[in-house]
Amino acid sequence: MSVTVGIDLGTTNSLIGVMEAGFPILLADENGERLTPSVVHFPAEGAAIVGRPAARMRTLDQENTIYSAKRFIGRRVGEEADDVAYRLAGEKGDPVMIRSRGANHAPEEIAAEILKKLRTDAERAMGESVTRAVITVPAYFNDAQRNATKRAGEMAGFTVERIVNEPTAAALAYGLDRLGERSKIAVFDLGGGTFDISILELSNGVFHVLSTNGNTRLGGDDIDAALIAHLAERIEHPHDAAVLARLREAAVEVKHRLSESETADIELPFVAGRSVSLTLTRAELERIAAPIVERTRAHCLRAMADAKVTPADLDEIILVGGQTRMPLVRRLVAEIFGKPANTSQNPDEAVALGAVIQAGILSGAVQNVVLLDITPLSLGIETFGGLMSVIIPRNSTIPIKRGEMFTNAVSGQRSMLVRVLQGEREMARDNWELGKFDLEFEQAPKGHARVGVQFEIDANGILRVLARDTKTGREHTVEMTSAVDVSDEAVEKMLEDSLEHAFEDMNDRAFTEAKLKADEMLPAVRIALTQAGGELSAEEKSAITARVADVEAAIATGAAQPLKKAVAALDEATQRLAAILVERAVGGR
Ligand code: ADP
Ligand code: MG
Repeated sequence: MSVTVGIDLGTTNSLIGVMEAGFPILLADENGERLTPSVVHFPAEGAAIVGRPAARMRTLDQENTIYSAKRFIGRRVGEEADDVAYRLAGEKGDPVMIRSRGANHAPEEIAAEILKKLRTDAERAMGESVTRAVITVPAYFNDAQRNATKRAGEMAGFTVERIVNEPTAAALAYGLDRLGERSKIAVFDLGGGTFDISILELSNGVFHVLSTNGNTRLGGDDIDAALIAHLAERIEHPHDAAVLARLREAAVEVKHRLSESETADIELPFVAGRSVSLTLTRAELERIAAPIVERTRAHCLRAMADAKVTPADLDEIILVGGQTRMPLVRRLVAEIFGKPANTSQNPDEAVALGAVIQAGILSGAVQNVVLLDITPLSLGIETFGGLMSVIIPRNSTIPIKRGEMFTNAVSGQRSMLVRVLQGEREMARDNWELGKFDLEFEQAPKGHARVGVQFEIDANGILRVLARDTKTGREHTVEMTSAVDVSDEAVEKMLEDSLEHAFEDMNDRAFTEAKLKADEMLPAVRIALTQAGGELSAEEKSAITARVADVEAAIATGAAQPLKKAVAALDEATQRLAAILVERAVGGR
């Protein structure tokens, strides 16, 4: 059985990756590059050249250097604008063909060249043959475009296991499959040549595309062109192809640098006998790019209108595409959606990572049949009051992935200690601690923080615990190997102990739960009495005071049943008091 790779076949850049020990990783070519430009150059003689060396030929041999072929895949003449620097062929209504060196190439043949290169790189990196793949496509691709992409995969020697939507893959990479049912997210994807905005909804663990919008002619390339024009003016020079080629490279590089720093220098030695050196500031670049970036806004508004959502309905905004590294783009996104985007993943790698995760899920299903390993003991985390909260129960089949949402117990809390526990006992202190870490989250009122904790055990028995503040995207991952690999004696001892202490354990848990409730009620009752006590009769008031005293006494005994009873009695005694307060709240006073 061979591995399944995940591939982002991008308009500008393509990537390939694979699951390794439960982790998605992207594979590099022999130069250590993970991003392969989606460019194919046909030289006068010999085989097609793919990737970075082909991209260098873009300005030097425009006719025979094919970029952005993805625009034409599965398209007919007339459906796509033909403003590319190479030649197209075909009668109106026929499939678009790309013409180079006297031959016609179908766009999927160009894509197949790129996929072949990725496949060769992956095989070299992994030292084994690769024949199965998951490939991503834009959400708006129609059947013809999807089928042509699949054919490209087959021409490159792959069995295409699945075609996956790019925004869905990105959402998987950002871990958003752990959000709650009916969560809605926006995927803002600004790549080299295209802009896509998609609104997705999670239901039954699957992402559904509610709407997509965008522009297949809007992206980083437009910013490059505007910047090159600006620079060409500043260096006042006749624009022959060689100078333009160098200027282009320098412009793209300076654009990337200005995403990190405020100023960047451009040095172009020996431009027609002189050296050019100038400085560009981020503010200047932003002035040049602003009208281009601004054009994404209308598409976002349309996509939200079509999906019938407002920014407030969206749980997360995620950034995809290299151009979203630009601070100006991030500011605009925050402005459009009323909150900052999640930036926890590399935007130009998210789609590929998601494709890899999807590939892993598909091949994991196959492994399931062969490998029936189980978790010998329950795994969970400690929650408020020292209780064990089980996330993966004992005897679960691995690989397995389970998550739960937790919240803050205290107002203004800024971090949560995640203690990863193994065992069958009710109280955290009686289980084994596998590890712990602190997850910081945004300060929030009690019960408002949303921290997702996910446990994933891969086929190799490695437990990966991921905790994420869904608000900020801040997350923490730890990995441990001891979750499945536990000695039989230890497991037996734990099970014996849990039986032996079953009674006290249950009492401890029941007591802790009742005490948590009491801790909430007592201060609330006190406040209610000062606010509305005047409306109660003397008997009612003294009954409440007596029940409060009962609860306090029961807490001191440490016994669960009496405390539960006392809490229930206090609840009963304060019914009318609670009703008065509710009425006041509803009545607006
Ligand atoms: P695609 O999805 O179209 O294949 P990518 O997601 O790889 O494209 O995005 C490519 C675009 O991102 C290019 O225009 C590139 O210049 C731009 N880009 C990459 N890195 C940065 C950066 N650090 N700052 C600004 N733009 C960047
Ligand atoms: Mg892309």
